[in-house]
Amino acid sequence: MADRQHALDLDATDPLAGVRARFRIPDGLIYLDGNSLGALPVGVPAAVGRTVEQEWGTDLIGSWNANGWWDAPRRVGDRVGALVGAAPGQVVVCDSTTVNLYKLLVAARRLRPERPAVLIDADDFPTDRYIVESVAGASVARSLGPEVGVVVRSHVNYQSGRLHDLAGLTAAAHDAGVLVLWDLSHSVGVVPVDLDGAGADFAVSCTYKYLNGGPGAPAFAYVAHRHQEALRQPLAGWLGHAQPFAMAPGYEPAAGIGRVLAGTPPIVSLAALEAALDAYDGVSLADVRAKSVALTSLFIELVADRFGDAFSLASPAAALDRGAHVCLSHPDAYPIVQALIARGVVGDFRQPDLLRFGFAPLYSRYVDVWDTVDRLAAVMASGEWDTAAYRRRAAVT
Ligand SMILES: *Cc1c(COP(=O)(O)O)cnc(C)c1O
Repeated sequence: MADRQHALDLDATDPLAGVRARFRIPDGLIYLDGNSLGALPVGVPAAVGRTVEQEWGTDLIGSWNANGWWDAPRRVGDRVGALVGAAPGQVVVCDSTTVNLYKLLVAARRLRPERPAVLIDADDFPTDRYIVESVAGASVARSLGPEVGVVVRSHVNYQSGRLHDLAGLTAAAHDAGVLVLWDLSHSVGVVPVDLDGAGADFAVSCTYKYLNGGPGAPAFAYVAHRHQEALRQPLAGWLGHAQPFAMAPGYEPAAGIGRVLAGTPPIVSLAALEAALDAYDGVSLADVRAKSVALTSLFIELVADRFGDAFSLASPAAALDRGAHVCLSHPDAYPIVQALIARGVVGDFRQPDLLRFGFAPLYSRYVDVWDTVDRLAAVMASGEWDTAAYRRRAAVT
């Protein structure tokens, strides 16, 4: 069985070890919730300060041109695109994942009017399921049939961490004449994604998880070049107009990816995201994936060694079938997570009985994995999790 020194040795030879210094991680805290809200990159406070003080405070309205506000959704979109294998001109950063899902799902269905059903897994993220239900009504499908025109799928499942084969599923869907709308919320920045290489149609994702864009950071939307000209999304706002300042009587969509935009972008949040992306400068996603696999594998191995079957693995056992987080199930998952937080290990609880641990390879260390399992062992041995205070559920879990 590995010991703590083994974990320290792995950190000493980790090619990404230096990247941790690009983040502010509170002293002594083991933060394993970067899959929900990524940590703060060190350059973000100054970038936001500059946007507020100089650009807003002094340059005022001129900033739309002089400070690049106008181009920000496309400029930052192209930077995000580089992380998901999208050539320039196919990604914009705007709105929330939920809103972008709605826009692209309605647009995709309009490209397949004769096949109105939408396929989505019953265990996909709630907002994805709700948007599909709201758009497709009674035509929600659970398996691929001739009536299905669009599939909505998360690349990595938010609970189990199961990683789907993006290229394989896209090719199979295309063979059946079906379009695919991928949700990359749990894979962008942590699993290599090659949207163009896979011949993908559409994708959406948030940017506040592994991309560290900050709370409520705007999401992104990808539309492959070949679909852009025919794309008609339902939120026909003035910012997606071909000539926004013509103030024309009727809507005419902008050429290219710009037609996915709806209204005025959140500039301060975009500035935070743009600065946050610097954390990826010079970072190889192959290294990120290799470390991610090693971190989750070490965690699973240590949990099995220490606890036998007291915790069961609720994520795929095969490393290549997993994203970057691991779920364990235990009937007392909720109070155990609270007790771990009190010991400085922040993971989260997911219904109904899951402890979820996200390992963000840019700042999570091998020794954090070791110490997490060690503190979990202390929590279980002492029984300290078994209190009324830890069992009391907070509004946000
Ligand atoms: C986090 C996440 C979202 C978040 O959607 P918001 O509109 O940002 O609230 C959507 N889908 C998936 C799969 C997610 O993991």
